[in-house]
Amino acid sequence: MADVDVDYCVVGAGFAGLTAALRLTQSGHSVALLEARDRLGGRTFTEVRDDGSWIDRGGAWIGPGQDRIYALMDEFGVPSYKQYTDGEAMMVVGGKQYRYEGTIPLTMSPWAAANLGAVFLELGSMCKTIPLDAPWQAKKAADWDKISLAKWLDDNVLSTPAHELLETAIAGCYTSAASEVSMLFVLYQMASGGGPSFVLGVKDAAEDARPVGGMGAVYRPMAAEIGDSVYLSQPVRRIDQDAGGVSIRSENMSVRARRVIVAVPLAIASQIRYEPMLPVDRSFLHQRMPSGAIFKIAAVYDEPFWRADGLSGQSAAPGSAATITIDAGTNAATPGVMCVIVEGPIARDLGRLGEAERRRSVLGELAARFGHRAASPVDYVEQNWSAERYSGGAMLSHAPTGVLTEFGHALREPCGRIHWAGTESSPVMCGWVDGAVRSGERAAREVTEHDGLFPA
Ligand SMILES: Cc1cc2nc3c(=O)[nH]c(=O)nc-3n(C[C@H](O)[C@H](O)[C@H](O)COP(=O)(O)OP(=O)(O)OC[C@H]3O[C@@H](n4cnc5c(N)ncnc54)[C@H](O)[C@@H]3O)c2cc1C
Repeated sequence: MADVDVDYCVVGAGFAGLTAALRLTQSGHSVALLEARDRLGGRTFTEVRDDGSWIDRGGAWIGPGQDRIYALMDEFGVPSYKQYTDGEAMMVVGGKQYRYEGTIPLTMSPWAAANLGAVFLELGSMCKTIPLDAPWQAKKAADWDKISLAKWLDDNVLSTPAHELLETAIAGCYTSAASEVSMLFVLYQMASGGGPSFVLGVKDAAEDARPVGGMGAVYRPMAAEIGDSVYLSQPVRRIDQDAGGVSIRSENMSVRARRVIVAVPLAIASQIRYEPMLPVDRSFLHQRMPSGAIFKIAAVYDEPFWRADGLSGQSAAPGSAATITIDAGTNAATPGVMCVIVEGPIARDLGRLGEAERRRSVLGELAARFGHRAASPVDYVEQNWSAERYSGGAMLSHAPTGVLTEFGHALREPCGRIHWAGTESSPVMCGWVDGAVRSGERAAREVTEHDGLFPA
């Protein structure tokens, strides 16, 4: 068993842990970054193909206001490129295809479009009442934390197609059924990104751009700068605190440090044994903030043929095996990459099918939307995040009803020498890569401030 003695230990090499370890290293501290998997990136995972193109199997897009991931990209010389948005998007409801431009499908009935517009405005003004540092202190926090997103949609969206579209779009962000997620959490998470237009939009919103080379082009040089202090394939099993420091044990490593930053998804953090036990509120928070289910699939073609047909590649078909699609290529003529995202209950259903049947269902949907060429990709890559032991689902952990008001205060509170990072702990851009970066920077500041050792 290798023994390492350092100033600080960081658990988890997703963007939160990598950023914390990077900032601590840069300010002259010794660090050990322990990662359970044999790869970096956590909920981001970039696969580089033989032709130099790349597929982001996890987090991929960035947008305005996500200043900390942009700052990291600048630091490592990684440029961004804009998401392809020319042409029309498509919406499939009740077996009918509607083509439209912009965020709201105005080609649906005027009643449905008006309903959608009104709900966007209402959600926007509700978000403005949420204090990001303490959403449980919002004036209506208790009322909103009592009800699920499903209940709020039932009470506020009367048009059936508008309801279907909104339920798919909003519950999809939490990769769960709308009945599983607290309305207060929905408002908090949306507010942390600036409101519903940012969360649900593409251009000038959450899917505005991507790093050239994918997220891996950012996390690889981060890890290179941290250097030999990154230890892969080291799932941390146990953290013991005492008066003098903290001992962290993985499968075959033991680290002694002044403090530890745990940067793993909330529900996964409960797999670690803490001695002494964590305070009850933190421990209960781990038990109460699950992640949802998501498949992210890339169908790769010789070219993005849908562009020539006047389609942007964006489509939404509530309930279908290709619920959401978005063009995941670049401006290069080849290859064309169609990204398919399936979330929540449909993703769980899809997970029960055999691989071949799942592929047939997904490609059948794509062909119905984009024509027969969509049925024959040259490559097909699927990632089932629910089956990932060290993610336990994705994209983010969500709070069911009652959790934020009762346990939200424990999201960032250190427990002795244990500090917490991870996108879920960021009051800004909670759930995005940018939130993970912010949480890593905050945790790095926090440990050194607690020790009276301010970073240089
Ligand atoms: C399909 C998908 C699409 C997404 N799309 C976007 C997007 O377009 N834009 C965006 O901004 N965000 C997106 N996200 C969300 C984004 O990827 C996450 O918010 C972000 O990557 C979370 O980073 P993190 O460091 O907080 O957590 P993670 O990335 O989950 O990192 C935690 C790390 O801890 C490790 N770990 C777990 N347990 C242990 C243990 N016991 N010991 C040691 N290590 C452990 C894990 O292996 C992992 O590497 C998406 C996510 C998914 C899955």
